[in-house]
Amino acid sequence: MMTGDHHGMLDVALAQLDAVAKRLALDPGIHKRLRQPQRSLIVSVPTLMDDGRLEVFTGFRVQHDLTMGPTKGGIRYHPGVNLEEITALAMLMTWKCALMGLPYGGAKGGVCCDTTRMSLVELERMTRRYTSEIILFIGPDRDIPAPDMYTNEQVMAWMMDTYSMQQGITSPGVVTGKPLLLGGSLGRREATGRGVYYILKAAAKEHGIAFKGARVVVQGFGNVGSVAARLLYEDDCCVVAVSDHRGGIYNPKGLDILKLLAECADKGSVSEHRDGDRITNEELLELDCDFLVPAATEGQITEKNADRVRARIVAEGANGPITPEADEILAGKKVVVLPDILANAGGVTVSYFEWVQDLQQYFWHEHEINDRLSEVMTAAFQRVLALSRKERVDLRTAALMLGVSRVAEAKKLRGLYP
Ligand code: NAD
Repeated sequence: MMTGDHHGMLDVALAQLDAVAKRLALDPGIHKRLRQPQRSLIVSVPTLMDDGRLEVFTGFRVQHDLTMGPTKGGIRYHPGVNLEEITALAMLMTWKCALMGLPYGGAKGGVCCDTTRMSLVELERMTRRYTSEIILFIGPDRDIPAPDMYTNEQVMAWMMDTYSMQQGITSPGVVTGKPLLLGGSLGRREATGRGVYYILKAAAKEHGIAFKGARVVVQGFGNVGSVAARLLYEDDCCVVAVSDHRGGIYNPKGLDILKLLAECADKGSVSEHRDGDRITNEELLELDCDFLVPAATEGQITEKNADRVRARIVAEGANGPITPEADEILAGKKVVVLPDILANAGGVTVSYFEWVQDLQQYFWHEHEINDRLSEVMTAAFQRVLALSRKERVDLRTAALMLGVSRVAEAKKLRGLYP
């Protein structure tokens, strides 16, 4: 089982790279180097369970490219995690960091596990053993993990502690997305959702869509989706539907997102909400709206349902929620797609801010973080938009062209070792 309704995520990532390489007339040697991850590590993670059994989980860490600096990317805990998926996500991270102008290469990691069936103590034991197994791979100047699906600040705190204890120092810069008290950054928790919001704002302005009253649908009410929904709601958009893995809730007059957030803290699922009608995740994606934000998992909009998508703009909060076939169908319908490597880059951007603050031991105010994030996201959107117009390509192709060409140029300058 893969994390989403899967589509050979690595095949897709490679096909995207090949198409862009052709368009950029990339040096064949550099193209070949970029197709393969620089380093991939598979580890076994023996963990003592609460009932006395020993479980052995499989963990991964892939560093796709180290040309631009240390590598950066999230850690995912999910039963569908596998080497192909992690490799594809690491590759996407390389393009994303390069597109945003961050001094990092791309990485990704994960453990194949079902956290919903694990106690907190089991989760801690597994995290600490996983961290120990990848410890030679990571470090503030090597590779800096961050949260992703089903990992959070607490998991980052355990990773930071395990690394620090083994080094005999306190090393906050080894991971980002940490609790504030341990060197985390203000604004990091909200950064990805906030970035989605800034990008949507810029795109809506470009397409003459008024924010006030714009109808919004958000799939996934986790770290990314819930923050994007809240910020859009607070900016007078009308959020008509949201969902999580248990289902969705729809109210054409608009949902009270603050109330929903408060309820979720108690009940856990948006599908328990009473001020609207229950809908499935499939129905949710097909609702008539201005902005659709798929912020759950990959492979959600495919050739099977793309034709029924009625949004004007789709902002990819999740990584890879639209398959290439669906991309073509949406383009045919003139739906604007804001691609993942741009739309959800707010997380890695503020992770970069966190890492800089940790290295300097000098921490910024929240308004400085948000202002700088807004600046970086809006400038990236404008670069992508300008290239897409110049080259007459869609925004995804333009974003990939910018990311890939930057890494290729750096590789050319560094030359080939030995
Ligand atoms: P999360 O674990 O906080 O939330 C995931 C949400 O999606 C939950 O509400 C869950 O119930 C829901 N969900 C899971 N499977 C679903 C399904 N099949 N249908 C509908 N809902 C489903 O995760 P997150 O950190 O918000 O990440 C979501 C996506 O965003 C992932 O693709 C992740 O790679 C991407 N992303 C996250 C960050 C970040 O900073 N957290 C940054 C960039 C990209």
